[in-house]
Amino acid sequence: MTLVVTMTEEALKTGLGVATLPGCMDTISASTARMLAAEAEIVPVVLGSKSQPLDLGTSRRFFSEAQRRAMTVRSGGGCEGPCCNAPLAWCDAAHLRPAGYGPTSVDNGLLLYWRCHLLLDKHGWQVRREDDRWWWTPPPWVDPAGRERPGGRIPPLDLTA
Ligand SMILES: [Zn+2]
Repeated sequence: MTLVVTMTEEALKTGLGVATLPGCMDTISASTARMLAAEAEIVPVVLGSKSQPLDLGTSRRFFSEAQRRAMTVRSGGGCEGPCCNAPLAWCDAAHLRPAGYGPTSVDNGLLLYWRCHLLLDKHGWQVRREDDRWWWTPPPWVDPAGRERPGGRIPPLDLTA
């Protein structure tokens, strides 16, 4: 069974305010809705400006086409891995924090070629986002200085300087 709970994006993010259960007049607190969503089959859906779901709860493991489009725009049309430039056709949407631990959302998703996906999942690279760009920090055995590399399709940094 799926229970639809509606709440504002602000309430979802902050846990403040109330959530509404359609079909009855009851409300529950937004923080209760967040907790339930993490543990049960309640799926929070945050609607974008055109009412396309942009942010789905943890019970949804796969990214929607709208989410992929949003990531494609952000990435510049290719892998969001470090200095990679693999074309979009080679990339899949990956979770920054794995499904079950983080939401299936644009903020928790990267478009990655499989080699860059391995950097994230297996090889100890750290990723953070600043505005619309991901920044990748290699583990010490790759670069003892830990210099960050930008993700997405831009000319790579000159790391020989
Ligand atoms: Zn890549």
